[in-house]
Amino acid sequence: MKGKALTLMAGVAMVAGGVYLLFPFSRTAEGGEQDSAVAETSQEIPEAPKDRVESIEIPPKATYGVLMEEQGVGSTDATAVYEAAKDFYDLATIRAGKRLELAFDAATGDFKSLMYPISTEEELRVRKEDGVWKAAKEAISYEIKLKTVRGTVTSSLYAAGLEQGMDERAVIEMGDAFQWSIDFAQDVRVGDSFVVVYEERYRDGAYAMPGLVLAARYVNDGTTHNAYWFENAAGEGGYYDEKGNSQRKMFLKAPVAFKYITSGFTTGLRYVAAFNTSTGHRAIDYAAAQGTPIRATADGVVSFAGWDGPYGNKVSIRHNGTYTTNYAHQSKLAVKRGQRVSQGQVIGYVGSTGFSTGPHLHYEMVKNGTKINPMKETFPGTDPIKPEEKEAYEVVVQKWSEALR
Ligand SMILES: [Zn+2]
Repeated sequence: MKGKALTLMAGVAMVAGGVYLLFPFSRTAEGGEQDSAVAETSQEIPEAPKDRVESIEIPPKATYGVLMEEQGVGSTDATAVYEAAKDFYDLATIRAGKRLELAFDAATGDFKSLMYPISTEEELRVRKEDGVWKAAKEAISYEIKLKTVRGTVTSSLYAAGLEQGMDERAVIEMGDAFQWSIDFAQDVRVGDSFVVVYEERYRDGAYAMPGLVLAARYVNDGTTHNAYWFENAAGEGGYYDEKGNSQRKMFLKAPVAFKYITSGFTTGLRYVAAFNTSTGHRAIDYAAAQGTPIRATADGVVSFAGWDGPYGNKVSIRHNGTYTTNYAHQSKLAVKRGQRVSQGQVIGYVGSTGFSTGPHLHYEMVKNGTKINPMKETFPGTDPIKPEEKEAYEVVVQKWSEALR
């Protein structure tokens, strides 16, 4: 495992010339980037005695009060900290598994500050200043390392990513970059390959979580798909292909997220049928475990949600005057008629209700009243890179072209 990690890091250094290997970084809750270089200074303060810092992993069912007491913090201070923090975070709702950090003065041993990570992007800090407890919500700053991973698909992209030692969350991000262009249940072939460059976030030297997928390439059945992350001048980020066309389209390729399509094409689960006008099966079937979430492939309004004979529990979504989609055999519905839904929203769960021989999703696309093959339908992308930002985008494409080779 170590050997592999070293190779990958060497790959990064080559790609980024060392420059992007490590830099202080923070991301606001809105997803924008902020330069946090201010937070890092290399000047050593001579011989200042270090405060004692207790980093406590919050055990299950632990309460704030008991934890503070265990650390020797008096109830007056514990209450004052709780009150100060209240506007930013309710410390009564701290979660097991997260870390609570308490600092005690090096000289006096007095309790002087508390830190709690509210989310992956923000932390709560409560400090005693001139005898008064003051709270603030601050952006968490991570060190970023870039990682390049490549692999070949033998069963599914999801499995291939995990085989290469990728964090599951990064694998999902990679798949999501292509979710409008590749149906990972129907399109994937043995021998497909991928390359991905993504961020790994470190905190105090310890791996924390993956960050953004910056660039990815997926070669599907001989066709190359590229996705480059680009943030425009307005701070909106998205994935685009090498020509600057948006990856984002009106319809997702599949109504089941690719992480659930682990069985894929290699197993015998081919009782499910593809679109076939001669057999009268005008739909795509997705084999998935009972209870797998089903997502709306595009924005729209629920025009039907209920029992429909052979279709069992069914949801229909009207997207516009042209397109409607149907999702049949569900075990449980998650939406009601008349409800507005957005692309990717969970509308129900895979089941085997109605005329069905096993849990699967029967997915239909209707265009102007006629059932069509969604695999054959192409949809224009949302806004491409603006002409005035083309140059900046080219730089991004160039930057990763070597790594994706
Ligand atoms: Zn079917």
